[in-house]
Amino acid sequence: MKALVFTHNLAREAAVTVAGRLDKRAFVSKYAPVALADVPEPRLPAPDWVICDTLMSGLCGSDAKQILLNGARDNPLTALLSFPHVLGHEVVARRRDSGQRVVVNPWLSCGPRGVEPLCPACAEGRYPWCRSFTKGDLPPSIHLGNCAGAVGAHGERFSAHPSQLFDVPDDVPDDAAVLADPVSVSLRSILLSPPPASLPVLVYGSGTLAFAAIALLRKLFPATEIWAATRPGARGRLAARMGADAVLTSAPDDLVAEVARRCGARALSPWSGKDWLQDGPGVVYDTIGSTETVETSLRLLQSGGTLVVSGVEPPKRFEWTPLYFKELSVIGSNGFGIEELSGVRKHAFEHYFDLVHAGLDVTPVITHRFPLRRWDEAVLALAHSRSTGAVKILFEP
Ligand SMILES: [Zn+2]
Ligand SMILES: [Zn+2]
Repeated sequence: MKALVFTHNLAREAAVTVAGRLDKRAFVSKYAPVALADVPEPRLPAPDWVICDTLMSGLCGSDAKQILLNGARDNPLTALLSFPHVLGHEVVARRRDSGQRVVVNPWLSCGPRGVEPLCPACAEGRYPWCRSFTKGDLPPSIHLGNCAGAVGAHGERFSAHPSQLFDVPDDVPDDAAVLADPVSVSLRSILLSPPPASLPVLVYGSGTLAFAAIALLRKLFPATEIWAATRPGARGRLAARMGADAVLTSAPDDLVAEVARRCGARALSPWSGKDWLQDGPGVVYDTIGSTETVETSLRLLQSGGTLVVSGVEPPKRFEWTPLYFKELSVIGSNGFGIEELSGVRKHAFEHYFDLVHAGLDVTPVITHRFPLRRWDEAVLALAHSRSTGAVKILFEP
């Protein structure tokens, strides 16, 4: 069957990285470590696994980052990957055994690995904290899409452990179902630090996680004032449509100035470098996690406020004095699992389907669809999102 395969090869990656600086097409060329390839039918790592036929899969920002080789060799997560692997972890599919339409909890934690007893994190449903990512029936890997022993979702078929599969209610269309994964990522980041009662919050970013966060905040906290730091144009309009009360610039210095104006705060100017504030939003949900967005968030947060980082870009030096001076909290947010919402503990996907039934609609983030064989155009559309307007791109096998 056809699937999108990533084969690790340092020499190739180095050469393509150099060529890609001149022209991003290098990252999807025949010299790139990723290719649409013929792969064997998915195997069952253990007898209780089931085959699923992909209906559609979502191109995640992390897939694009990997294909565009936007990472460093010292990234700690390289300890938890195995190659070659089929990419893809956002998917709506049909189970071969029952015909049921399902979405997939991609975490390859104790349950799917056949590790017993479950580690303490898995016992609590906090799968991203699992201590077994290198143990059990599978090679080292974190989730479907980076595992050499279980193919990911960017292919015609894949296999999954039954504990990973969640039935999609009949009245939830495929387009809404395939967003269960990214919306759950944003749900987790909000639940880690919900909006404070009397302060605005800021959502930083122009991708699926940002728009999902805005839609969730609007639904769950109707009284909260939500600001979006989003690219102007179609992205800004989408942020407003998802429920942002104000769409602010995403240019760092202008953003700090705009927040100051809105809060009636006085911008403080150091001897050199960027202004900062003591009053601003109570929480920033940073879906990008670059040095630029983290630094800017620390400068514009309310004293005592919280930065929740759900995206991650390669690190660089930045001026982090406001972190200690304003006694800010920085929280990392990773994936999802069993989450508590309004006193009910269940899997994030189950909360998501409840919210869809209650009117949550994040599907306007879907901007492009491609057959999987045109994966290269899809990746370039996301890489050039400033001009193409791409937010969520879906593949059909
Ligand atoms: Zn993802
Ligand atoms: Zn575990």
